[in-house]
Amino acid sequence: MNKSDNSKIGFCVVVISGPSGTGKTTVVSRLEEESPVKLIKTISATTRPPRAHEVPGQDYHFLSAEEFEQRKKNGDFLEFAEVYRTGYWYGTLKSEVERAGKSGGWALLEIDVEGALNVMREYPDALTIFLTTPSETVFEQRLRDRGTEDEAVIQKRLEAARNEIKFASRYRYTVINDQLDRAVEEIKEIFCQHAGESCEHA
Ligand code: 5GP
Repeated sequence: MNKSDNSKIGFCVVVISGPSGTGKTTVVSRLEEESPVKLIKTISATTRPPRAHEVPGQDYHFLSAEEFEQRKKNGDFLEFAEVYRTGYWYGTLKSEVERAGKSGGWALLEIDVEGALNVMREYPDALTIFLTTPSETVFEQRLRDRGTEDEAVIQKRLEAARNEIKFASRYRYTVINDQLDRAVEEIKEIFCQHAGESCEHA
């Protein structure tokens, strides 16, 4: 299938969630490269400050709390949530989903469970994938290896992860990231099943 054109298979909203430390970001980057269907990752808005390597407008739309609130009031968000009880807000702008659709891609949202549940209400046909690790020990280790968060944040994220896992059954698919290549292949296969006959999955 021509990746520059999803017109034969129609538009789809893809949601990927999973606790910190599941390797979600790596899986999503791989999918952006290798997906058998064209994917456009939506750029979320957040009130969290940028990390050193992050580029505004590319990694996130970094907004002040006031700007975020104003955009909420304007009805600009498809979904939003205060993620990990950090006091920081994250949200998907409707304009981002439209951008994906206009460029002929499936919209790919990498968002938390609370946000995902809201997207499921708006888009009941969304292709929802919960990514997880084989055990809690594995994601705790991955979270620590990343070295970007301090202990208090790690503890909050672990607690959030335990809560998030309870919602895995609300997703259409659960994929265990036991091995990166395998997990990516499994998701590509899911995409192909969803896309139908015209999908050629190497
Ligand atoms: P980080 O601060 O590490 O970039 O992201 C923390 C978490 O925020 C991610 O694991 C992701 O699940 C969640 N997140 C990112 N963007 C959005 C969004 O637009 N909406 C929601 N609900 N969650 C988001």
